[in-house]
Amino acid sequence: MIPSKFDYVRANSIDEAIQKLQEFNGEGKLIAGGHSLIPLLKFRLSEPGVLIDISRITGLKGIQKAGDRIIIGALTTHFQAANDPIVQEYIPVLSQTVRQIGDLQVRNRGTIGGNIAHADPAADLPAAAFVLDAVINIHGEDGPETMNVADFIVGPLITLLPENSVLTSISFAVPPAHTKAVYLKFSHPASGYPVIGVAVVAGIGENHVIDYIRVAITGVGDVAFRATSVEGMLLGQPLSEMILKEAAQLAAEDGEMASDLFTTEEYRRNLCKVYTERALKSVFYGN
Ligand SMILES: Cc1cc2nc3c(=O)[nH]c(=O)nc-3n(C[C@H](O)[C@H](O)[C@H](O)COP(=O)(O)OP(=O)(O)OC[C@H]3O[C@@H](n4cnc5c(N)ncnc54)[C@H](O)[C@@H]3O)c2cc1C
Repeated sequence: MIPSKFDYVRANSIDEAIQKLQEFNGEGKLIAGGHSLIPLLKFRLSEPGVLIDISRITGLKGIQKAGDRIIIGALTTHFQAANDPIVQEYIPVLSQTVRQIGDLQVRNRGTIGGNIAHADPAADLPAAAFVLDAVINIHGEDGPETMNVADFIVGPLITLLPENSVLTSISFAVPPAHTKAVYLKFSHPASGYPVIGVAVVAGIGENHVIDYIRVAITGVGDVAFRATSVEGMLLGQPLSEMILKEAAQLAAEDGEMASDLFTTEEYRRNLCKVYTERALKSVFYGN
């Protein structure tokens, strides 16, 4: 399909991007890597009058450690995040997640900020963002603002990004040093997007009980979610294969399951249990 007609402008700073969004008064749309927006334009699901290219704004790039958080600029590509030594050392679940996004071309163009701002229900990144207590940094007409990822993504392709604002970076909490992490994905055979993606960060304390556990699931419904029922059952318990299996049975409890041409709601519910059990076993037993 051919997109409807649009103009193109480039913003060279965050302030200029905001100014152009104001100037085009609802007709302007930011474009970063274009790997989610351009397909929407082609299907005419989005018909902005003007594309505002933010891809060269240097203030939106870079990865740094600030205390116990890792801050990743919105324009960081999936490839850069996957291979960055800070990400690999402190938040390996993010590296594991983004290296499973699309193919090499997609990872070279697609950005961390664009992935979260697009809020695709089948995106991989939200699972890692949820287990790493991600905070979204935004710059808008009234200056900087922050939002937890769970508050930011509210529905399929819907976020609470305020009008005329730019997602500038995402801040991820560094989990305790003794934890291990895994992202396990069952890809749609045609698109490669996750039918389900499960991220787990977990650790065993000195007293041999599970003292840290975060589980998040993406792809099965309208929004990703923390599987808090699974976490609640496991926290403080001695590790055993039996308890992991029992806890995984609760994996679908905290989210809405979708039904579509590829899978039924019931099948997705079952995928939640199976993939959560596999992810838990992988993180605790390495299998
Ligand atoms: C063939 C293919 C396969 C893919 N497979 C996967 C997959 O397996 N898993 C997965 O998770 N994703 C997948 N993707 C999506 C890919 O990860 C996208 O690149 C990413 O989701 C969006 O990043 P982008 O920079 O391309 O955003 P764009 O397409 O440029 O923008 C997407 C949306 O975000 C907004 N936006 C972008 N940046 C900002 C910002 N800084 N501030 C505010 N708003 C902003 C835009 O206005 C637009 O609404 C795939 C894409 C393709 C084309």
